Amino acid sequence: MMLNAYNKWMLAYGSGWDSVVHKHYHSLLKTQFAAHATIQEQKLDKIKNLLRHAYESTVFYKERLNQTGIKPRDIKSLDDLKKIPPLTREDLNSQLQALISDRYSKDQIHYDKTGGSTGLSTQFVRSNECLAIKKATEFRFNSWAGWKPGERILYYWSPIQDFSSNNKKPNEIIQKYFRKRLALYAGKLNPEILAQHAEKWKKFQPHLVRAFPSSLQMFAEYLNENNISPYSPKAIITVGETLNQFQRALFEKTFRCKVFNCYVSRECGNMASECNEHDGLHVAEELIHIEVETENDDVGNLLITDLSNFAMPLIRYRIQDMSKIKLGKCSCGRTLIKLNLESARLSDYIVSPVDNTKIGGVTIIHYLLAEGPRVGRFQIIQDKKNHLLIKMSGSKSDNQKGIAHIHRTIDTLFEGKMLTDIEFVEHIPFLKSGKYQFIRREIP
Ligand SMILES: [Zn+2]
Repeated sequence: MMLNAYNKWMLAYGSGWDSVVHKHYHSLLKTQFAAHATIQEQKLDKIKNLLRHAYESTVFYKERLNQTGIKPRDIKSLDDLKKIPPLTREDLNSQLQALISDRYSKDQIHYDKTGGSTGLSTQFVRSNECLAIKKATEFRFNSWAGWKPGERILYYWSPIQDFSSNNKKPNEIIQKYFRKRLALYAGKLNPEILAQHAEKWKKFQPHLVRAFPSSLQMFAEYLNENNISPYSPKAIITVGETLNQFQRALFEKTFRCKVFNCYVSRECGNMASECNEHDGLHVAEELIHIEVETENDDVGNLLITDLSNFAMPLIRYRIQDMSKIKLGKCSCGRTLIKLNLESARLSDYIVSPVDNTKIGGVTIIHYLLAEGPRVGRFQIIQDKKNHLLIKMSGSKSDNQKGIAHIHRTIDTLFEGKMLTDIEFVEHIPFLKSGKYQFIRREIP
């Protein structure tokens, strides 16, 4: 069955870039079911190879390893990797050139930068060659959601940089590959644009949708308010932001399909995704090694080692997201380890004035939205240890019940020690990256 789909795909899309992606895709479909020990062994080989390459061809890793007195050959197990200090965003910002491998010429690499959801935009470099396996990984995640090669994909997409002429080279390649794709810019939405999107969605009839949850939420609410029943895709994959339970339920009801949460970063691409069990996200261990900085198997900072980008090796890169490893086998049969991504992003929690515990944005949003009356779009800013400023769209009179619920919930959550002011604004701006930040913490 599947082979037919491949053949059709090959006939339709030809050779070159497509065939390289196809080869990776085919291989990734097999390796996801390989024995756990085999995957770990192969991963270790790739890490050793990357480390040797980084040491021999970048100024940064030569110095970093020499300073710590470690030689690449000292790394004999995945555990040994802990001897290498994590790579930080500050390292990237201050030593970008020193991190680039001298084995790559200018026309073999491209520059990109993160959107700055943590307040700091970081530049980095990727080899052009690694795009193929990264794209194949995205396709494998799509296949977990029921998509087949050649089927229509709609991108409900917020980062403006993906629509600009910057970075033209890789974008053009990707466009060519995706003959059956439609990308709708969802970083700026108003009723007029939402109406156009509803039309385009209907006409395009996507098999699969990849979307930023905050933008898709606005679209879903628009459809519901206007009694529009949208074309139902096979599945929706959410990326780029934390997906909360309220949004998952809203999407499943509005679009009448399952939602798959996917963990994607600009630096490393598609890293982990839910399978049809929807119980944690399988890591693409063939090209990403993930560690959690934690003492007790709890939530901690993620450290990413990217096994496919040799132009600028990211080894134990502290990406500023938090998560924990989910133990146990998955009944889908895949042996790739799983992440529990219910935990919030690093910038995405509130510190309690009661006992300094960190309360994740997902939890707060759940209490405020899923359990309360409908309110306007909002953003919570913790500007003082004991003060929250909530910016909300709409007017006070429209949101009376919701406001009362918010005050009650915050009083309960923080035992009356958190003061709250609600400010009504015309609209809540997106970040430059196109992301919508629910929670912003302005205190350490
Ligand atoms: Zn699974």
